[in-house]
Amino acid sequence: MVTKDDIIQKAHDLGFEDVGFTSADPFDSQRKILAERHREYAWTKAGGLDLDAGTDPKNILPEARSIIVLMEVYFRKAFPRRMEPFFGRCYLDDDRMTKDGLAIRIKAFRSYLMENGIASKVPFNIPHRLAAGRAGMGTFGKNCLFYSNKVARKSSWVLPVAFVVDAEFEPGVPTLEVGCPDWCRNACLTACPTGALQGPRKIDPRRCISFLTYFGRGLTPLELREPMGLWIYGCDRCQNVCPRNAPWLSAALEPNEKAAEKAPYFDPVKLLHMDRKYFEERIWPHMFYMSSEDIWRWKMNVARAMGNSTDEGYVPELILAFGEDGDERVRGMIAWALGRIGGRAARKALEGFRASSAGVVMEEVERALSV
Ligand code: SF4
Ligand code: SF4
Repeated sequence: MVTKDDIIQKAHDLGFEDVGFTSADPFDSQRKILAERHREYAWTKAGGLDLDAGTDPKNILPEARSIIVLMEVYFRKAFPRRMEPFFGRCYLDDDRMTKDGLAIRIKAFRSYLMENGIASKVPFNIPHRLAAGRAGMGTFGKNCLFYSNKVARKSSWVLPVAFVVDAEFEPGVPTLEVGCPDWCRNACLTACPTGALQGPRKIDPRRCISFLTYFGRGLTPLELREPMGLWIYGCDRCQNVCPRNAPWLSAALEPNEKAAEKAPYFDPVKLLHMDRKYFEERIWPHMFYMSSEDIWRWKMNVARAMGNSTDEGYVPELILAFGEDGDERVRGMIAWALGRIGGRAARKALEGFRASSAGVVMEEVERALSV
């Protein structure tokens, strides 16, 4: 029978920086939270993610005896500076669709377990961070993120991957508490631009910029446009301001070549003008929460980010895109963005848009002209 030490060694050989073990007992605290806050999480079920089922590992593997957690540092190398202000870092080297990185290592680990007579499952819906906390691998931040107690200078730039297995291993000592220093005056709660963080370890996911960028319905409400800033897909603000992450943010990291290669395709100007083919070939394989039916949301987010950049260099691109795109949510946001950037060229364009605008778009054009 394979031992814990064998497993730890294998995980390290595969590039995982920390390994923990916990029981396959149900995550009762998570089930309780999901029940109490069912309104905030209803969208997950509607989207096919059954978080309730994930609170009992035996729903996933009836013979479950333990959970092995492998810690991946997703921000091990430096991401391109031109991407970081617009995209959450966890999406900049995400191989869940391309399966050419982490997925290969997860598969290799599962094969190793199988060769040693251990069945495993790596479900999406299990509370991976909670499993890592129960395995004693780190603590939580008031921003609801998980902070490693060993790797990446004890930061939150980690992705715990939980393997439900049918073998019994001695569990680690849980560290489920909040590990924030007393002197931090809740920097994350204060910095959250949309008020998604409503208290320590209390988030309304529906107000989180990450959620809004990929699942927000319709034209982004006026009061959220400025707070959403430059984010096009995801948001790292509550991690960027956290003093627990400062040591890793100050580290000299070698560049992430894989992310650097795709960076040109994620240039906001290219995203603003992209067609379905470009989206499906260049964008979707890396950031897949929105389908090609939702290209309008990508473009709306890009237009809003351009507006918030206040960069006049984007004005000609926004004007061009207004003529290219018939979607009123995109055109409405372009009008808003031109109003936000301001200047003579933007104003002249907005005046010209009146002739071809109606309804919501006309409202946005008039509002932009009144700024
Ligand atoms: S990711 Fe952004 S919007 Fe979401 S909780 Fe953190 S700071 Fe707030
Ligand atoms: S910003 Fe402060 S309160 Fe928030 S997670 Fe970091 S240390 Fe904790």
